Amino acid sequence: MKYEIAVIPGDGIGPEIVKEACGVLDRVGEVFGHSFHYTEVLMGGASIDVHGVPLTDEALETARRSDSVLLGAVGGNVGNSRWYDAAPHLRPEAGLLAIRKGLGLFANIRPAYLYRELSSACPLKESIIGDGFDMVILRELTGGLYFGERYTKEVDGALTAVDTLTYSEHEIRRIAVKAFEIAMKRKKHVTSVDKANVLDSSRLWRKVVEEVAAGYPEVTLAHMLVDNCAMQLVMNPGQFDVILTENMFGDILSDEASMITGSIGMLSSASLNEGKFGLYEPSHGSAPDIAGKDLANPIATILSAAMMLRYSFDLDREAAAVEEAVQKVLSEGYRTPDIMAEGGIQVGTAQMGRLICERI
Ligand code: NAD
Repeated sequence: MKYEIAVIPGDGIGPEIVKEACGVLDRVGEVFGHSFHYTEVLMGGASIDVHGVPLTDEALETARRSDSVLLGAVGGNVGNSRWYDAAPHLRPEAGLLAIRKGLGLFANIRPAYLYRELSSACPLKESIIGDGFDMVILRELTGGLYFGERYTKEVDGALTAVDTLTYSEHEIRRIAVKAFEIAMKRKKHVTSVDKANVLDSSRLWRKVVEEVAAGYPEVTLAHMLVDNCAMQLVMNPGQFDVILTENMFGDILSDEASMITGSIGMLSSASLNEGKFGLYEPSHGSAPDIAGKDLANPIATILSAAMMLRYSFDLDREAAAVEEAVQKVLSEGYRTPDIMAEGGIQVGTAQMGRLICERI
């Protein structure tokens, strides 16, 4: 089969890690008889430097016409990049919000998996890690507080800021359906996270999630308050299979879950629309501190490409081949500096990509 992929290298380490992920896709193509065709798209600081905006309409259109999108990362050094003082809609990260909204990417999937080989980097005690953990966080991505009406105005002589948290039944239902569909392919357990003891939006969330759950009798459903979930993630992470939650709670909990895996350089993510179309990117940012030095770990981006094979192209065997190759490289002791430990063999970005290709 032939697949059209829009590739957004972005800023910082983005171009280096995306190059390795495309190399891995090419290797999959050779071995399994597929052809991947790439069209490069500018976004973030790279687009601001050329077009003055973080995402042009043409770039969005190219992404929309493709079968899926592979993204590195966008953004510069927080506090002192040449884009830092621009108006909010002219900053690199505005490109991310625009492409998610423009492509209707409402479902963000972030796996948090503990590789046995890297468990020494996990900040949790051995007694808590137990048999390890393997969860997926499903975060609603285009609604809630980050997209609601917001303003700051003076009220009775004091500046007052307002952010609005809005969710419709429709927005909750479609993300809940995705969560149950994913759970059906995994351990069949969904934990829905909300703040139903306080928020109206959370009460509606709970009601709609229960309606959706009724259609999946094989999947067990638990509700958990967000503050408890933040604690449970570090007390007993093994209890989770699929965590389903709204935009802001998901933003925070998915970073917490990344942290307990030991390395942000290993974590993939996917953002999907109602169909098979998706944008795939590592969970980390553009790491400007190590850009251009062959130090970046490309595995998160390579595993994101594997998610693309599975979720957008239905190539499960090919996705598993990439995941197994990553596992093999780690078992053989190869490490980029961010996951280096005593006894490991340190390699750079390009060599890590090459080693993974050779094992597919
Ligand atoms: P970051 O994830 O870029 O970096 C945090 C730390 O992790 C740094 O020390 C970095 O060197 C390290 N790191 C990250 N990815 C790594 C990898 N693959 N290999 C080895 N080490 C890695 O987060 P930050 O420093 O807070 O943000 C930097 C820029 O990235 C900012 O402009 C921010 O807005 C942007 N950002 C973009 C995205 C995105 O494009 N989706 C996400 C988060 C942050």
